[in-house]
Amino acid sequence: MAHGVATEPGPLSHAATLELHGLDVDGVNKCVHCGLCLASCPTFSELGTEMDSPRGRILLIKSLAEGRIGLTDSVVTHLSLCLDCRACETVCPAGVPYGRLIEAAKAEMERQRPGGPVRRLFRWLNFELLLPHPRMLGLAASMLRLYQRSRLQALVRASGLLRLLPGTLPAWEALLPEVRSASERAPLPELVPAKGARRARVAQLTGCVQQVVFGPHNRATARVLALNGAEVVVPRGQGCCGALHAHAGDHARAQELARRLISVFEAARVDAVVVNTSGCGAHMKAYWHLLKDDPAYAERARAFSLKVQDIAEFLTQEPLRGPLAPVPMTVTYHDPCHVVHGQKIRTQPRQLLAQIPGLKLVEGKEADWCCGSAGIYNLTQPEMATRLQERKVTNLLATGAEAVVTANPGCIIQIVQGLRSKGSAMKVLHLVELLDRASQASQRPEA
Ligand code: SF4
Ligand code: SF4
Repeated sequence: MAHGVATEPGPLSHAATLELHGLDVDGVNKCVHCGLCLASCPTFSELGTEMDSPRGRILLIKSLAEGRIGLTDSVVTHLSLCLDCRACETVCPAGVPYGRLIEAAKAEMERQRPGGPVRRLFRWLNFELLLPHPRMLGLAASMLRLYQRSRLQALVRASGLLRLLPGTLPAWEALLPEVRSASERAPLPELVPAKGARRARVAQLTGCVQQVVFGPHNRATARVLALNGAEVVVPRGQGCCGALHAHAGDHARAQELARRLISVFEAARVDAVVVNTSGCGAHMKAYWHLLKDDPAYAERARAFSLKVQDIAEFLTQEPLRGPLAPVPMTVTYHDPCHVVHGQKIRTQPRQLLAQIPGLKLVEGKEADWCCGSAGIYNLTQPEMATRLQERKVTNLLATGAEAVVTANPGCIIQIVQGLRSKGSAMKVLHLVELLDRASQASQRPEA
């Protein structure tokens, strides 16, 4: 089957010459300092400072790895402000693997500068207690739903109590997504049979936060896949893929979760692993690199990464199976960073939208610029995240579209919050929601 290009596994290499405590940053030597990436970097665009550009950060990472500088407050600030959006990778003529470099640098920052007790508690709560354990995540979701559905959330917000919270905690509360009901969060069936002629047997990633907040998107994904000839397996015990851990510098936990996911999905014996969340897909396509020095998993991770496909990538290999009902709407598309830059998937979502009768797509300015969500960036860097959110929302509203279509839970949460804070009723939809809506109701399989 076809596969995303830029993240395809290359030859296994153990000959790294430049490292940050075991993590390969040799790619910094590919940078020829041409500066072609500067105009595509959101933080450079906002701040105009060299050290907040890809070229400046590459110089910092190289200097760190060579031991010429230490992790001073200033270095940490410049590196922490990077979104890891990888827009610089897309335009770089020298093939600098920037995403890998910044993740190695963030792992080093976590090692040397873990922060104060509030920050450490936040990381433990999210990265060790909740995300890797679906039961704990489910329990937290039930409590959060109670908080949202009772008058408590409204009372807390109206009381001004949130302003008394330390650090960036008030920003976290504002970004809490609406938690779905228990029935909407319920697991998908373990097997959804293909409709009509079977074209492939695929495994679906249901994710951690995705299943709690966007369970209906997972169900729509399974229905659309089945209608398009995929026998959909939903492996039990899959849990979190570790993308958020890798993004936030928790390298060891990211490796541990990758090993678990590979083992669970191998048992499903499928042709492809289909993903409807951009950060997870890009990260799973890079498992081969994450585990390249693990003798028990290196080859298995390579084989696994080659099977991973974004939902748009899988569905564009053949025309959509019809009949498709008209969806008379004008929409604009927001490219999630880890789809367009992390997986080089730009045309496929647009090709799918073009097949829906009655749907009109209008392109917006800076459609492939980060919305400021970037994993947990909007929680750790709320000021820059808000600047980029406002920039994104202004560009989306300028299109005059009724809805914005995208393909990542973090982007959806960030854009919804930005639109609502401007009083806009513009809808934010996942690509699969529209594809599902266009599918004939009579054809829908159970999911
Ligand atoms: S990943 Fe994004 S924010 Fe970071 S240097 Fe590259 S373009 Fe700039
Ligand atoms: S990262 Fe690439 S585009 Fe940017 S300065 Fe280096 S070589 Fe040029």
